[in-house]
Amino acid sequence: MGVGVRRIVPLTLGWEDLPKSVSVEGAPERERLREPVPGVLLECDGGWLLLDTGFNTALITDLALRRRYHGDPAIQPVLPGPGEPLGEALAGAGVDMADIHAVAVSHLHNDHAGGLKHFVGRVPVHIQRAELDYGMSAPPGPGGSPEGSPEKNGIYRVDFDDPRIDWRIADGDGEIAPGVTAVLTAGHTPGHQSFVVSLDESVGGGGFVFAFDAADLTENIDREVAVGGRINAGPEVSVEQIRKLKRIAAARGYRLVPGHDPVAWPALTAELAASAVRGQP
Ligand SMILES: [Zn+2]
Repeated sequence: MGVGVRRIVPLTLGWEDLPKSVSVEGAPERERLREPVPGVLLECDGGWLLLDTGFNTALITDLALRRRYHGDPAIQPVLPGPGEPLGEALAGAGVDMADIHAVAVSHLHNDHAGGLKHFVGRVPVHIQRAELDYGMSAPPGPGGSPEGSPEKNGIYRVDFDDPRIDWRIADGDGEIAPGVTAVLTAGHTPGHQSFVVSLDESVGGGGFVFAFDAADLTENIDREVAVGGRINAGPEVSVEQIRKLKRIAAARGYRLVPGHDPVAWPALTAELAASAVRGQP
């Protein structure tokens, strides 16, 4: 066994009010949820790794930008407070932004990639090639935004099209830090990735599989039902990725954690806050 992750700190970087059908294929349109926006801090050998970065707050707090980027009344972002959610969540965990040595994004949706601006020119950012290629296919300037473009699919080029970002581009599964393996789970977006996190023996071993948007809710996992939001993929693609993650979790005895579950996410946050994985050595 190699060196594993010593601490896991789930972060809640905001919420989204949306129809349940975004998360669960076939759910009634009028049924709505307030889902947490997740991030995960991992203390690895060599420093802190951050999985996902939350919203780009400027696109929410500036009313003109908000009309462009969050104009759909059906899906509305909710910020935790007036400040930067990432900075406040890190402060709550006792971690400084400067302590983060690497970042990985599950995918480029605005609720996951919006905080990349804090890390440009500073730390490596792990992503799948298919995701970056799709994101960069967006019209570069304001105005041009035809139907079916990444922007119409919630992927905002302003969040990640910065030549100073130190991309670490993967083609499929691979270890990105000691104890952390990225697993390609395309379907929700063209290059979505999930993360298998193995805990160090010094904190009891075991681990977690963080699905992120390959499985938004516990229901997606338990019923093996597709996520509703998909780009260029049918529901069967999403179901196959859910099954793949369940197989990985079962084979290792790890827990599979959905990305946006309003019950499971705060419960895991509280559980880890009370455990050695979060606390003292
Ligand atoms: Zn997403």
